[in-house]
Amino acid sequence: MTDCIFCRIAAGELPSRKVYEDDEILAFHDIHPAAPVHLLIIPRQHVDSLAHCDASHQALLGKMLLLAPRLAQDMGLKDGFKTAIHTGVAGGQVVFHLHIHVIGG
Ligand code: 5GP
Ligand code: ZN
Repeated sequence: MTDCIFCRIAAGELPSRKVYEDDEILAFHDIHPAAPVHLLIIPRQHVDSLAHCDASHQALLGKMLLLAPRLAQDMGLKDGFKTAIHTGVAGGQVVFHLHIHVIGG
């Protein structure tokens, strides 16, 4: 068993309010939303951060990024939304499993 919160969410060991999942990616509501809509998009595969990605993650990163506008649309964010990827301690990263914030509303 892992102590990574997002790996445990991906494995279904911890609950989350999922809005999307497939064999590679999961998206769910942030537990402490910074806005009316605040989603997190994560890969099922554990990657510490964006700084730990390489060419082997290129397709996965593209897929995660392309999911953001789709989910924003689904959540009714017609006028736009914000995306953020915190990387490393100095980048404000708290959970060291790669994730994209999708914020709006
Ligand atoms: P970051 O690492 O990008 O700075 O922030 C991690 C984000 O994950 C925070 O916005 C925090 O509210 C969210 N978060 C931390 N633990 C959980 C959890 O157990 N479930 C959910 N849904 N979100 C979490
Ligand atoms: Zn993890």
